[in-house]
Amino acid sequence: MSSGDPRPSHPVDTHGDPLTFNVAGLLAEPPGSVREYAVDGVDVDLSEDELVLTRPVSGRVRLLRTNRGLVVESDLNTALAGECARCLRPTETEVQIELAEEVLPTIDLASGLPVTLEEGEDPETPRLTDHHELELRPLVAEAISLQEPIAPLCEPGCPGLCEECGERLSPGHSHGDGPIDPRFEALRAFRAEAGEGEDE
Ligand SMILES: [Zn+2]
Ligand SMILES: [Zn+2]
Repeated sequence: MSSGDPRPSHPVDTHGDPLTFNVAGLLAEPPGSVREYAVDGVDVDLSEDELVLTRPVSGRVRLLRTNRGLVVESDLNTALAGECARCLRPTETEVQIELAEEVLPTIDLASGLPVTLEEGEDPETPRLTDHHELELRPLVAEAISLQEPIAPLCEPGCPGLCEECGERLSPGHSHGDGPIDPRFEALRAFRAEAGEGEDE
């Protein structure tokens, strides 16, 4: 196969994980060889980070053979669920996953010998498995969690909640100068009560 002929198809992998790529074929090619793959709607579990995606991860992955291993470049996107920091409505934050990482083998394809890091090389450098597989899932998960917004807003300039009635301060929201509507009072009491228990 020529390196100028990137295939959009997925390589065979042994775990059935669409984010695991068997790169033995690419490692057997000269530096500069490239593979490109489409990633089409892959779920990534981020429950350890208490994060939820509103849509699966999609986009493209490009693998470039280097002298020692691979450079992984990704153009992937997804979106994170959240809660507006001002009015508590659900939010959705777009996330671009643009990796540009060198990944080194653990076993040399030709000799079968372990590949050791050179002096001064970052021990955290991502490695291929000893079956010449690239496991992209942890890299993708980390890239997403690093982009968790600190205080997402449902819209720019969200007006937040009314201090009197707890409703969202939509345009025109007003209590005038009169006393608070008793219905709002009842609602506020209810919310205060509910707030002591669970979230819902
Ligand atoms: Zn809001
Ligand atoms: Zn109000």
